[in-house]
Amino acid sequence: MGDNLINIVESQDEFFMKEAIKEAKKAEDLNEVPIGAVLVMKGEIISRAHNLRELEQSAIAHAELLAIDQACRQSGSWRLENSTLYVTLEPCPMCAGAIILSRVKRVVYGASDPKGGCAGTLMNLLHDERFNHQCDVTKGVLEEECGQLLSAFFRSIRDRKKLEKQLKNNQTFKDLQ
Ligand code: ZN
Repeated sequence: MGDNLINIVESQDEFFMKEAIKEAKKAEDLNEVPIGAVLVMKGEIISRAHNLRELEQSAIAHAELLAIDQACRQSGSWRLENSTLYVTLEPCPMCAGAIILSRVKRVVYGASDPKGGCAGTLMNLLHDERFNHQCDVTKGVLEEECGQLLSAFFRSIRDRKKLEKQLKNNQTFKDLQ
C-alpha cells in the first residue's frame, strides 16, 4: 500500500514535469534557453510559462516568475498556498525569492543548475528557516530529459558559432586571393 502511494505521487510528478518540458520546448522554438514551468493547484494546471528572456529582453522573464505572476492574476491572490511549481531547471535566486514570497507549497525541478541553482545546489533559499515561509523541494524528476534539452541547445549554439567563424574565415581567404 505504501509503495503504491509513492508510485502514484511519482507518476503525478512525472506527468506535470512533462507539461513543463512542453513549455521548455516552446522556448527552444523561439531560440530561448529551453526552460519551462507549470503551476499546479488541486491537481490542475493553473498557469504555464516558458523562458522569454531574449524575446522580451528582460532579465526577469524566467519561466517560474512568469508562471507565478500569471497564477496570481488568475486566482486574484498573491498567495499561492497549496500550489506546486514544476520547473525543468532548478530555480535561480530571483525565482526562489518569488516562490517564497508567493507561498508556493512545493517545488519540483528536473535538472540541477551548478551555475545558479538556489534550491539546493549553490544554496537552498527554499529551506532556509530564517524566512517566514519554507517550501518542500523534490529534485531530479525527469532530470535527464530536462538536462538534455539544455545541453543540446547550448551545443547547437556552439556549432552555429563555429560554422559562422569558418564561413567568415573562408570569406577572408577568398578575399585575399
Ligand atoms: Zn529564475
